Amino acid sequence: MTQDFTPHGKHLIAGEWVAGAASFRSEPASGPAHEFAMGTPGLVDQACEAAAAAFPAYAATTRAERAAFLNAIADEIEARAAAITQIGTQETGLPEARLNGERGRTTGQLRLFAQHILKGDYLDRRHDKALPERTPPRPELRMIQRPIGPVAVFGASNFPLAFSTAGGDTAAALAAGCPVVVKGHSAHPGTGEIVAEAVLAAIQSCNMPGGVFSLIQGGKRDVGTSLVQHPQIRAVGFTGSLGGGRALFDLCAQRPEPIPFFGELGSVNPMFLLPEAAAARGAAIGAGWAGSLTMGAGQFCTNPGIAVVGAGPAGDAFVKAAAEALEQVAPQVMLTDGIARAYQDGKARFDGRNTVQPVLVTASEGRTAAPNLYETDAASYLQDHALGEEVFGPLGLVVRVSGADEMETLAKGFEGQLTATIHMDDGDIDLARRLLPVLEQKAGRVLANGFPTGVEVADSMVHGGPYPASTNFGATSVGTMSIRRFLRPVCFQNLPEALLPEDLRG
Ligand code: NAP
Repeated sequence: MTQDFTPHGKHLIAGEWVAGAASFRSEPASGPAHEFAMGTPGLVDQACEAAAAAFPAYAATTRAERAAFLNAIADEIEARAAAITQIGTQETGLPEARLNGERGRTTGQLRLFAQHILKGDYLDRRHDKALPERTPPRPELRMIQRPIGPVAVFGASNFPLAFSTAGGDTAAALAAGCPVVVKGHSAHPGTGEIVAEAVLAAIQSCNMPGGVFSLIQGGKRDVGTSLVQHPQIRAVGFTGSLGGGRALFDLCAQRPEPIPFFGELGSVNPMFLLPEAAAARGAAIGAGWAGSLTMGAGQFCTNPGIAVVGAGPAGDAFVKAAAEALEQVAPQVMLTDGIARAYQDGKARFDGRNTVQPVLVTASEGRTAAPNLYETDAASYLQDHALGEEVFGPLGLVVRVSGADEMETLAKGFEGQLTATIHMDDGDIDLARRLLPVLEQKAGRVLANGFPTGVEVADSMVHGGPYPASTNFGATSVGTMSIRRFLRPVCFQNLPEALLPEDLRG
């Protein structure tokens, strides 16, 4: 196959490529812009009805059949590797190496879910045998996790592959036995289209019902709102902004039949530099922090935007090293013009406050972002809620604390986070013991002596956390446990063996 890819700009609905009456133009960071059919509520309805029609047959597939389907999607994505990287880099401005790495993560996720469902542990099968002689008699009870039905997925702007069309949410839903309707992100419609092409090829080779997967390109807000409100949709997977996520979450709650909205929203991922670690290697940690802060132009949900550091020379060395490292980082292209503007607005919030001191302030042009670093004290931070809001991009805020008590007070003041990090040495153990019960309540993942960017896709990973990090603190959007979002426990009482789901028999 040729690796040059020119998108045709259509939606994929239940196995058919569908043109639209109106269109929008992509806004690539480089290369030619293309026309894409605009999504409409009518097209959303077609896709959701097709998903509902496909659900009974798809839910009845064996785990082996679904595993083969997931592996086939991964193979089809790999077969389009160069073309995916080509259109992906053009649309997002992300470098080639990042797109290649993210493709590996995407296919790795699909294959991991294939293995995971084959093992069958996720079904959490339980059996309470009948006790007819007991008073009162106990019935025969068997429990298993069952797929919930059609799932809506919102592609994320910052992960054009791993959190988009065939990304983690889609892989988890398909693994569970749920059809998927994706609302493509308008920042990378061509990347969405070629990945949808890969999914369609796998649908055909594995003989799956066409309605098991649809991609509706964006365009207008009514695509997303009609999707989450569609009566056939049973749950939503979303990664994006707090404002957008909250609006869609509210719509899900207001439906006649409310449904769960699994939104992964904003986080500043606080990092605590404990005194012994600061004294021993404050400068090295500062330089490492700068690297994590600027990775991917800071456009990661796990970007450690706030560092809590003691007053005094060790803290000063941390700040100095971070500033020096940040100064070396050239401006990077951001994912969209809108995200670049939002970064400038976020920076302006800091520039306009006399409680915040600039450490490194840079000017960014157009769609690029250069790093910025600011400093404040604990009292100012605690009084000003806006300082704790995520700035999506390479901007860091250092909050200086007078000692352990203030560090603990600050930890208690944080809202829900995806991650919280402690940098500590042996002598910091008592303070770490004080902070941990607080941080455990605040974050989905607590790290020691590392940086939170780079989320491992694994059985134990939690990528979620209390609101506003996510809208559902019992869930994760990364790792095999994310399949639970799209399953529902059903208890079968006294059912004859022949009527039980196949996975419960025997
Ligand atoms: P976004 O604006 O929340 O959009 C995400 C998706 O939701 C898009 O498909 C968007 O559709 C849709 N959407 C948003 N608000 C909606 C509404 N009120 N009604 C219906 N649909 C709605 O996020 P984004 O475009 O990815 O980036 C913008 C900002 O989000 C960034 O500046 C950053 O602050 C944040 N962000 C955070 C993370 C994170 O992981 N924490 C990741 C990515 C972005 P349209 O495209 O049609 O608007």
